[in-house]
Amino acid sequence: MIPVNAPFLGKQELCNVADCVKSGWISSKGKYIKQFEEEFARFCGTKYAISTTSGTTALHLAVSALGIGKGDEVIMPTFTMIATAYAVLYTGAKPVFIDSEPRTWNIDVTKIERAITRKTRAILPVHIYGHPADMDAIRKLARKYDLFVIEDAAQAHGAEYNSEKCGAMSDIGCFSFYANKIITTGEGGMVITDDKKLAERCRLLKDLAHSPKKRFLHTDLAYNYRMTNMQAAVGLAQLERIKEFIKIKRDMAELYSEKLSGIPGITLPVEEKWAKSVYWMYSIMIEKEFGMTRDELMSELLKNGVETRAFFVSMHAQPVMKGMKISGLAQKYPVAEEISEKGLYLPSGLSLKKKEIIAVCDTMKKLSSGGFKK
Ligand SMILES: *Cc1c(COP(=O)(O)O)cnc(C)c1O
Repeated sequence: MIPVNAPFLGKQELCNVADCVKSGWISSKGKYIKQFEEEFARFCGTKYAISTTSGTTALHLAVSALGIGKGDEVIMPTFTMIATAYAVLYTGAKPVFIDSEPRTWNIDVTKIERAITRKTRAILPVHIYGHPADMDAIRKLARKYDLFVIEDAAQAHGAEYNSEKCGAMSDIGCFSFYANKIITTGEGGMVITDDKKLAERCRLLKDLAHSPKKRFLHTDLAYNYRMTNMQAAVGLAQLERIKEFIKIKRDMAELYSEKLSGIPGITLPVEEKWAKSVYWMYSIMIEKEFGMTRDELMSELLKNGVETRAFFVSMHAQPVMKGMKISGLAQKYPVAEEISEKGLYLPSGLSLKKKEIIAVCDTMKKLSSGGFKK
């Protein structure tokens, strides 16, 4: 079986974790936390990085630290992973969902302005599958209407928009280090910002809001979102190799696209001229001409030992969103609907071999040209 993804861990990760265990620094104090945060901020080109327990908590921390809550609205793509919407809902604010644009599957920036109301406080783009959203258009609107911009860069560590790093192009950026992300800490997350006050607010809220003046005196309702030193130890070792990881992802995408380009009925991922995608997952869409549906292809591939994943189900179609008093849920999201129905991603792990990629493509070719009979 060729798995859709697998973490890629090395000797340095093991060595760093062993150091934590031997030294007893296994909780959220210790040298790796500080080093990982500093090195991650340096990598992204921001002044501050604050580690958290997950991408979900990084997003929640960011929205909370900006003071967004009840009565507020946050504009985001409907086509995303559910944590983006949850993070906003946790604060009492409401997400407002926007359709995708058909090329990169990111938020359709031409549809944002008409969704802005007096309640709107922020725009929250997601750099989907490692391809940056159109940040200039988003930042322009944010300036015009005095809104915050929060980036969900959970799938886009090291991706670039006109040479600017994803996550570092706005008020605050959020990352995940779940096992299948570009780099991992097992579970974990990070918030990055250039704003000192915002960074301090994040630090306060992630650690139960201990008053800086007196311990065990608390001024805010806060959280325990502290990453452990052991997780940071893994993260630091992973971060040392991130450029290599990104190159592996980009080379993988290039080979997939080359091998799949001749097969009818497959829409390949694009990279806009202003973008450097990190191809978190090699994502494609299956069109009618392919000769079978996306779901049929997925089960045929599985029979041939190839694991794949369908695209996200959009937020407006999620049962959990009904009854949350979210406006616009019933409106049409034709692009997101189409993407959710036709999209899948192919095996994209960092340890995937060239010959495995070729084998996947050969299987696809065989299936497309009548290798499948109903
Ligand atoms: C993975 C992911 C998250 C959530 O991260 P966790 O670490 O799993 O909590 C949020 N947003 C997007 C776009 C993601 O891909």
